[in-house]
Amino acid sequence: MFSAFRALVASASRPLNVDEGHLRVHVEESQLEAASAACPVCGLGPRQARVKVQDGPEVWFAACGHCSACSASRMPTEAFLESYYRDYFADGGVRVSFQQYERFYRRMQRVGALPYHVVGECRILDFGGGDGRMALHIAQRLIDEGVIERACVTLVDFSAPAEPASEQVGVVKAQLEEVGGASQDMVVASGVLEHIPDLHDALRQVVRVMRPGARMYARAPYAMPMKRVFSDYDLQFPMHVHDLGPGFWRKWCDEDRGVRLRLSQPSIVKYPFAAMPLHALAAGLMKLPAHVQVRLPLLRELPLLWRFVGGWEVVVERDQ
Ligand SMILES: [Zn+2]
Repeated sequence: MFSAFRALVASASRPLNVDEGHLRVHVEESQLEAASAACPVCGLGPRQARVKVQDGPEVWFAACGHCSACSASRMPTEAFLESYYRDYFADGGVRVSFQQYERFYRRMQRVGALPYHVVGECRILDFGGGDGRMALHIAQRLIDEGVIERACVTLVDFSAPAEPASEQVGVVKAQLEEVGGASQDMVVASGVLEHIPDLHDALRQVVRVMRPGARMYARAPYAMPMKRVFSDYDLQFPMHVHDLGPGFWRKWCDEDRGVRLRLSQPSIVKYPFAAMPLHALAAGLMKLPAHVQVRLPLLRELPLLWRFVGGWEVVVERDQ
């Protein structure tokens, strides 16, 4: 009975584990930083090894006892990641983590991530969104709806920014450290946090640039529960070095950073139903029990009862 259930879940979970862009590579000793006892997300710990993602040299995903994030026990070096992502982007294709811009915009609307409180000019930080097309689309749609008059998108990524659709939208490229403090009305961090070895500093920078009342949408893998049951599940190391679930986000927001958690739920299904109905349906069903739990007041505060969701998304608001 259990093995039949396991086979069913394994088959249904496959759509949660497809990332067409993932380059599988073995990371050599010289390409890895030394193991650190401190957690790369909160700077504290202790960390406990949970699942091995590579042999010779061994790399584990380890859970932090303080913040609940799971991260690689040894991080790839900066030089390795630079050459890795150069290969990743070598095909010159569309460089965004989510390619259905309008569907993504509607999702931002539904989850309350859009800066409807802003009038006049809106500033959007696109953190790791490839060439910035998702944020540029959000900016243009807000103008078309009459919410704002102008928008400036700041793109933090390796790629050159795409062309805005109108003169009302400007775009600049910057490093996160160069963005002014309390300057942004919205931050889009979709599918990027899991790639950043020093996530502690990156998250600190993101909070720094948010204006009072600004919102951040973040989406990252939450796949450790899947990996612990299905050993062949691919956590996508070295591309992904963190796994962030609801427990992490609750603690991160609780720790007096001047932010509060507005929404925390299983992440959007990547596949458009019209193009990939079976994959979209299977992924949607896998996420459904957790969606129900986070909407029920009596169950919302409990640890997640069904954790096979593959990814998690949050909307975080900067205190007024
Ligand atoms: Zn931690």
